Amino acid sequence: MPVLKAEGKTFSTQVPVLIVGAGACGTIAALAANERGVETLILERDAKPQGNTSLSGGQIPAGGTKLQRAAGLMDDSPELLYQDILAKSHGECDHAIARHIATEAPKTIEWLVDRYKLPLSCVLDFQYPGHSRMHMHASPSRYGAELLTVLVAAVEGEGIPIATQAHVTDLYADAAGKIHGVRVTRPDGKTEEIGCGALILACNGFGGSKAMLQKFIPDAVDLFYEGHMGNQGDAVRWGEELGASIKDMGSFQGHGAVATPHGMHLAWATVTEGGVHVNKHGKRFSNENAGYSEQALNVHRQPDKFAWAIWDARGEEVSKRQHSHAQAIESGAVKKYESVAAMAKAIGCDAGVLENSLKINSKDEFGRDFKGKPPLKAPYYMARIMGALTHTQGGLEINKEMRVLKKDGTPFPNLYAGGGAARGLSGPADWGYLSGSGLLMATNSGRLAGEAAAALVKKG
Ligand SMILES: Cc1cc2nc3c(=O)[nH]c(=O)nc-3n(C[C@H](O)[C@H](O)[C@H](O)COP(=O)(O)OP(=O)(O)OC[C@H]3O[C@@H](n4cnc5c(N)ncnc54)[C@H](O)[C@@H]3O)c2cc1C
Repeated sequence: MPVLKAEGKTFSTQVPVLIVGAGACGTIAALAANERGVETLILERDAKPQGNTSLSGGQIPAGGTKLQRAAGLMDDSPELLYQDILAKSHGECDHAIARHIATEAPKTIEWLVDRYKLPLSCVLDFQYPGHSRMHMHASPSRYGAELLTVLVAAVEGEGIPIATQAHVTDLYADAAGKIHGVRVTRPDGKTEEIGCGALILACNGFGGSKAMLQKFIPDAVDLFYEGHMGNQGDAVRWGEELGASIKDMGSFQGHGAVATPHGMHLAWATVTEGGVHVNKHGKRFSNENAGYSEQALNVHRQPDKFAWAIWDARGEEVSKRQHSHAQAIESGAVKKYESVAAMAKAIGCDAGVLENSLKINSKDEFGRDFKGKPPLKAPYYMARIMGALTHTQGGLEINKEMRVLKKDGTPFPNLYAGGGAARGLSGPADWGYLSGSGLLMATNSGRLAGEAAAALVKKG
């Protein structure tokens, strides 16, 4: 993925704003730039845009939207979301970017819903760990593919071209770091070169690259990867060559309840509604509700690298509304049991040990607070689970306009990044990910990058 010298190079095709990647970030960036009257082209490596966006649970946090007010949630605000991001990341994220993204979030949600009919409504049936209010806005079946379908249709409806099967392999940059264009490789090996006025990197992180995981997050190499394989870390590789500032490379979002061997993500309401995880000996091992991200390695570190998720009808009622959970049910990963003894038999553990693990005090030895969550009761639901890597959180450092920064803190002349290509809001490790941070970043940074790139090329 080299960065080639642009000096002396000419391009027969020239596009003012060029975008790499047609996920949430890229499509939203294109809509924002297009609204400002600037010609835009998206280059997408896949034959059909999918990315992590279409694999996701389609849940986007924001504080203080009119959708929330209409749903009776009157006391949420950007400030509360910002404080939640800070608390979850132990204050180790970029505070200015976190505040900016939280402030912009209601505007982005309302704009996408009002203008492009993004099918979002408030999630009112459960609250994610670390969310002080019900911040989530989700698609009807809590499935990102529903969102990306609408975004791609909106892009096409606006007449913005998406070139698919267009793998951007190289950038052309001059000595000042100005991007002049890109080289695209087609599936048959043929290449094309396209010049640009500004370039937005919306090609996500490096979860699909074992080599980069080995280099930056060795702990995550052995985790099951539940994200899109097209996340090969191209933005970071180009950034490294260009001398960009790259931050929080050890950070990632994990998921601590992926049904195994099915590879399907259980809804986290299996935990928030009083559910627990036990290992093959029937013993609990962590505060499951600290967050689904850090629970991935907790599960992975259990004997034989798996555990069992146990919940009851209360959690199941909410969980089955989420697409991935419904798929797990369909695939036979979720089983129903009438007694603790029957579950112990299925696990192969001592029934007394399991019984003891399900005796919940309001605050337990792992620091989990079960206040307001009555003990689980039959019928129980159970699935064998593994820890998974969902997406990486480290990436290119950006400023409030989503311009990529050099190591000295100054911005590159015309290079922007957003979504998983940019440094996330999670701080340096897996424990810092606030639920919904991925799409929060992708949607808002997409809009902000599109607006700023359009303004730059209009200025000339
Ligand atoms: C199972 C799962 C569940 C999730 N659930 C949620 C959730 O409910 N809420 C939430 O906030 N987040 C969730 N996330 C995270 C969220 O999906 C991502 O943070 C977000 O979608 C990132 O958007 P993006 O536009 O940056 O990347 P993507 O949607 O991955 O899009 C990047 C695109 O770039 C393309 N691309 C890559 N390299 C190149 C190249 N060199 N040339 C051309 N194209 C290229 C890829 O093919 C891809 O289409 C989930 C993720 C997963 C995997």
